[in-house]
Parts: sequence; C-alpha cells; structure tokens
Amino acid sequence: MPAPNEPLEMREFDEPNLREGAALLHTTFSEVCGTDVHLHRGKLAGVPYPIIPGHVSVGILEKIRGRIKDVDGNIFQEGDQAAFLDVHGTCGSCRTCLVDKATTRCPERRVYGITFSAQDPDAPLGGWSEAIHLKAGTKLLRLPDGLDPETYIAGGCGLNTALHAVDRAEIRLGDSVVVLGVGPVGQSIIAFAGLSGAGQVLAVGDPENRRDFAKRMGASETCGLEIPPEDRAAWVRERTGGRGADVVIEAAGDPRAVSQALDMARDNGRVVISGQYTDNGDVIINPHEQINRKHLQVRGCWGSDFSHFHRAIGVMAGHHGRLPWREMAEKKFPLAQTPDALAAITRGEIVKAVICPNQ
Ligand SMILES: [Zn+2]
Ligand SMILES: [Zn+2]
Repeated sequence: MPAPNEPLEMREFDEPNLREGAALLHTTFSEVCGTDVHLHRGKLAGVPYPIIPGHVSVGILEKIRGRIKDVDGNIFQEGDQAAFLDVHGTCGSCRTCLVDKATTRCPERRVYGITFSAQDPDAPLGGWSEAIHLKAGTKLLRLPDGLDPETYIAGGCGLNTALHAVDRAEIRLGDSVVVLGVGPVGQSIIAFAGLSGAGQVLAVGDPENRRDFAKRMGASETCGLEIPPEDRAAWVRERTGGRGADVVIEAAGDPRAVSQALDMARDNGRVVISGQYTDNGDVIINPHEQINRKHLQVRGCWGSDFSHFHRAIGVMAGHHGRLPWREMAEKKFPLAQTPDALAAITRGEIVKAVICPNQ
C-alpha cells in the first residue's frame, strides 16, 4: 500500500536478516479487515506509508534464529505452525506501561501491517506477503489442537478487539447487552457477550444477512438501520423494561453510533467505544442529558495485548464447534488479487477476505 488512495502495488523484497530470537513465517493466511480500508483512505494518523498491510496472520515457521519459546516455555521448532500478536515492542518500562497500566498506549508499541514501514530494513512486516519477518520479541502462539488456521483467521483480528471490549464492559451474569455493528468485531463481541453470561444480547446493524448471522452468534434480537436513529434507543428500552441496557458496546465505526450508544444505556450503565479505531470524524452529544444526568460509565478500548490474543484463541478453540466463526471468512484471494479483496471489503460485499499469499 504505497500511500493513501493509491492503487496497491506488488513489490519484491530481499529476505530479511534474521537476528537472534527472530523468525521467518511462511504466511498461510492473512486477512483484509475494515482497518485496512481505513488505512487505504488515510484515516489513521502516524502510518508510515508505504506499508505492507495484514496485521493478523498465521503461518509456518520457516526459519528460526536462536530459541523462541511460547508463554509456557515450550520451544518453537522450524516447521511449527504459529500465529502471533500483531503488537511488537510494548516496552514494559515506561510510565504508560508501569504506572498508568495502559500498555496498549505504550509509545514504543508498533503493529505489524499498520505502523511498520515497508521501507524498514526489517521488512516484510505485514501479512499481505509470502513471508513475514517476526522480529525478536514478537509474541508467538500455537493454535490449540482442533483449531485449524482457517477457522482462526476467520475470527482474526476481530477476536482480540472483541475480547478486549467485552473485558472493558465487565459483563455480569444476566446483563442486557447491546452491540452496535455486525461486522467481524461486532459478531465476535456478540459471541463473547453470550459466553460471558449476558441474559440478552441485542444487535444493531446492516445488512440483513449479517443480522441473521448475528443471531447464529448468539444475538437474541436484531434491529436494522432502516429504523430511524432516534427510534433505536426506544427499540432497546422496549426490550429492557423501559430502562435501557446494562451494557452497550459500540463496534460500528460510525461516530453517530457513539451518541446512540449513550442513549441506549440505562442509568449508571456501561458504554464501551471500540469501533472508532480510525478517525471517522466528530459527533454532537449533549453531555448533560446523555452522560452526566444518566450517571453513565463511558470507556474507550484501544488495541489489544497478549492476554486478549491468548484468551480469545482459547475461547475460540473451546466454542468454534457451536459458534460459526469459520463462516465469516467468506472468500479467499491469492496475493495477486489483493486489490480485489480490498475493493470487496470497501464496498461491503463481504465481511472478511482471507489473503492466501502462497497459493
Ligand atoms: Zn511502555
Ligand atoms: Zn483488523
């Protein structure tokens, strides 16, 4: 991706020089998600174009320099399958990490496929590539037995975001939960909310086939965007004894959804904002009516860390037989057709495109 709004280009890279603790991953699957669309439109500050997109990927370890262990101390061998946390370099020694305990805001943190330049001497550092250089310090994970890479990539990056958002929401057994957005992140939030014991999960979004899918992921009822925005909070109140929902999680991406989320929550309810990862503009709210008087708890949710990644894969391994994550990966594309994959996601034709760089 040479620059915002420029056509994608195919480029050749030299094989990177692997230092101690680094590895070369032969990419089996990567993905195209909504963030890639936003990156292509230049909606995230600080992206060092040109970049090789593809933040969440899975593959086979082709070369390893030195020893790389998983969190349980088991050593990775060449030929092992591995997924990795797309976040690299969280320092663990700055004020943000140590005092504020906001590690996903660590200034040293970089993200594969987003904040590594293709001009970095360590490239390729993104998944839309036949091989990915896993720099020393990258956190690798084996997929548990029974969880195949195709199912994993179908959940992909949305799994980490969804698990973090559900953590932030602190769902209690029996809570009523509204999820705004029925894209990949929203779908996994719906599943995780149900698994967290929500008594009721209401989903809002378009199109209809995604609302149908949301029901299979555990939504009790869904609401389409043909209902005027000002009526959607009433739709929620009708289903929550007139009070509003205990928890509302925004994963829609449209700033207007944030204002609607505030209206849908009950007094002293919790609202988590996870869909505004890129800058999609402003929205007008009335702080008196929508937050202060309601005694509302509003929480942002930025990025994810290794615990979200590790736990999300564990949850998926335990429940993918019952919850249809795998079907979210609607279409596979070889590397040469990546522009078509990005276009299909941009037009909203499919929920998720899987890139198969070595097919
Ligand atoms: Zn730090
Ligand atoms: Zn993503």
